[in-house]
This record gives sequence, C-alpha cells and structure tokens, in this order.
Amino acid sequence: MANVAVVGAQWGDEGKGKIVDWLSSRADVVVRFQGGHNAGHTLVINGVTYKLSLLPSGVVRQNKLSIVGNGVVFDPWAFIREVNSIKEQGVDVSPANLLVAENVPLILPVHGAVDRAREEARGAGKIGTTGRGIGPAYEDKVARRAIRLCDLTDEAVLKEKVEALLAHHNLILRGLGAAEMTPADLLDPLREITPQVLPYASVVWKKLDELRRAGKRILFEGAQGSMLDIDHGTYPYVTSSNTVAGNAAAGSGMGPRAVGYVLGICKAYTTRVGSGPFPTELFDEVGDMIGQRGREFGTVTGRKRRCGWFDAVMVRQAIKTGGIDGIALTKLDVLDGFDEIKVCVGYRLDGQELDYLPANAAAQARVEPIYETFEGWKDSTQGARSWAELPAQAVKYVRHVEELIQAPVALLSTSPERDDTILMNDPFQD
Ligand code: IMP
Repeated sequence: MANVAVVGAQWGDEGKGKIVDWLSSRADVVVRFQGGHNAGHTLVINGVTYKLSLLPSGVVRQNKLSIVGNGVVFDPWAFIREVNSIKEQGVDVSPANLLVAENVPLILPVHGAVDRAREEARGAGKIGTTGRGIGPAYEDKVARRAIRLCDLTDEAVLKEKVEALLAHHNLILRGLGAAEMTPADLLDPLREITPQVLPYASVVWKKLDELRRAGKRILFEGAQGSMLDIDHGTYPYVTSSNTVAGNAAAGSGMGPRAVGYVLGICKAYTTRVGSGPFPTELFDEVGDMIGQRGREFGTVTGRKRRCGWFDAVMVRQAIKTGGIDGIALTKLDVLDGFDEIKVCVGYRLDGQELDYLPANAAAQARVEPIYETFEGWKDSTQGARSWAELPAQAVKYVRHVEELIQAPVALLSTSPERDDTILMNDPFQD
C-alpha cells in the first residue's frame, strides 16, 4: 500500500489543496514537510471556502491526523491564528488531531523584518517573496542558530538563543537601515504564545513510524512547486526549501522508502507570482482572460498572478527532477471556449533548440518558447465528473499533454468543488 506525496509541478498555486483534501479521504494522516505560511491552499467543501496556509489540508476532514513536519518553518502566531479561524468555521482542531514536530524551526518577527528590508533594498531586482520571513528562517536553520519549538520549554536557554540570534540579525537590519530589535521584542510575544502552541508539540518521527508500522496511509502535502525548489527551480527566484517529493521523507522524519507514489499537480496553463523567468508568459488579452477566468490572485498576498500557456518542457523537467509518477491536471475549464490553445514543446536559445530549461538565470530569462497549437473546444468541461462528459477535443488535449510530459494524468479536476474530480488511476492503489 503506497503512501502518496503531492507536490506542485509548476510555480505553486496549482490547486494542491483541493487534491490533497480529495485524496485525504483515502488517507489516515496528512503531513506538511516544507515551506511555511507562505503557502496558500484553498478548499471549497459544500460551498464553504477554507483558506489554509500553514496547516495541512487534511485538517478539515474528520478523523484524520494532521502533522506539521520538521522540514517546515513554523510561525507560532500564524499557526494559532489559523487554528482559531478554522475552529470558528466549525472545524474540530486540537492536539488530538493536529501535531507539530518538536524540532521544527520557528519563524520569529525578526525574520519577517529582515525578509521585507532585504526585498526593499533589492529594488527592481527583488525576488517578490511573500514577506513572511521564510528565507531568513531557513537560513537560521542551516546556520545552526534557529530557535526550535522544543526550545520554548526552557526560558533560560531561550533567552540565550534569542540574544545570539539578534546579535546576527541586528547587524543585517542596521546595514539595511531598518529598525533593530531588542530581546524583549521577541521574548515577550514568545512567552505569550508558548502555552498555546506547546500542547501541539510532538515527537513526530516516532509517531509516524508507529503509524506506518500499523499500516496507516500517509499523505505528504507539498507546498509551492518544483520550479520554486531551491535546487531545481528558477534560482534565485525560488523559495528557500526543497519543494520536490525527495524532501517529503527528510522533512517529516522518515526514510526514502516512506513515499510510494508521487503525484504532481499542474494547471492546464501556467501561472507565477513574484519575479523571475517565465518563458510562456502572456502579456496580451489572452493572458488577462486566463487570469480572470482562473481567478488568479494570490491567496496569501492577494497579488495578481502572471499567466501563460502550458509549458510541457518545464512540467516534464519537474517530473524528472521530482520523480513524479502521475499528474493531477487542474483548471482545464479555464481553457473552455478558446479557439486555439498553445503548448510549449521546446525552447529556442541563441539559435539552438533546447528540450530543457537551463540552470543559468540569464539563459532562463532569454529562452523563447516553441509552441504547438491545438484546436480548442466550445463545450464546458466545468464540473465534469467522468471522461464521457468531456468534449472530444479536450480529451485529445489531455492525451497529448501526457505524451509531451512523459507521465500519465491520474486525476483531472474540473472545478474547485471537492467532488468535481475525474479519477483515472488511484495513487493509493498504484
Ligand atoms: P518566499 O517563499 O516568501 O521566500 O518567496 C519566494 C518566492 O516563492 C516568491 O516568488 C513567492 O511569490 C513564491 N512563493 C512562495 N510561496 C508560494 C506559494 O504558495 N505559491 C506560489 N508562489 C509562492
């Protein structure tokens, strides 16, 4: 029985939340293994919209265990706000069904301050981060000065660590001309939040081992997407973690064999938020139309997303670098009614044709897409729940996409609603 990892195969915002929610009916445990509250996952269940950032999408289901793994960067205030907000929506959340790895590194107010001050200093060259302190918190983890959830239990150790942390960050803030912080700026709010978050702290690796040995099904929920991966993405316009499924095991405290099937999520077109190369980006009314129909505004920052045609080269690359076994194709209905639909099948760079996106940032910015053009379809695909309900031309499009990306489409999502999903093969049975 395979455990499943769900990852984005583009630049994030592919509709992972809905797919994870849908798949979680077949799982016992849902684990977040990287990222933080930079993610924005929207779930629509019986007409009610739930917006999640840090919590695993399984949290809205009854009788599922949700876990925030050690690979996440954890903002305790954002966590409690989100817990309270979905509790207000009537969802039952407590340490009985939600656990946080005790070794998770914390995002503190100083991380957001450094993130935003740096972005401001970068000016036109900014990365376009979410400003939530994700990058600086991961830097602290790797630099071995992070404060972790387990450190909140000892006031004396915490004070020492906070002082050491600020000695580092105040140098940066000073250099950037931003306001410095005092230990009290971090310790006071930490003292207040500690009794609220500590009950959720758990020895997650041990719990997961027990669950796995008891035959429970685990769903690993990725955030962002392959092209935002710190190694395999469009560096430096990326997030600060490995978003590929290879990180699911390390980011939750399990071995590499814990993941059986990797499901990559991609939209039938492409979007990106923030700066960085985007070969198939559209600057015309077609791009605007995709953005409007797809309601392409960020869940976290409200920013308008950049839109473009489906890039089969990029998704194929995500499939190879991330070990993706099958794809869930989302938002096909956004393409309904177009006379023609384009798909990028290669790049042109300095007179040469490429079948991959090169690593060099300047080259990534210069590649030109080579398109194949498909005839569109007039009928609606919205809400379709079986292949038979899809227009013939839409089926042809999906089949051709499978050939180009060299992976099967396992699921097709035809609206934000949980049940508007067509299942071709069940990742948990594969
Ligand atoms: P950070 O993760 O806030 O450091 O932002 C780095 C880059 O990742 C920026 O381009 C963000 O727009 C992008 N990013 C971060 N989280 C998400 C997400 O959940 N969806 C899409 N883009 C994201």
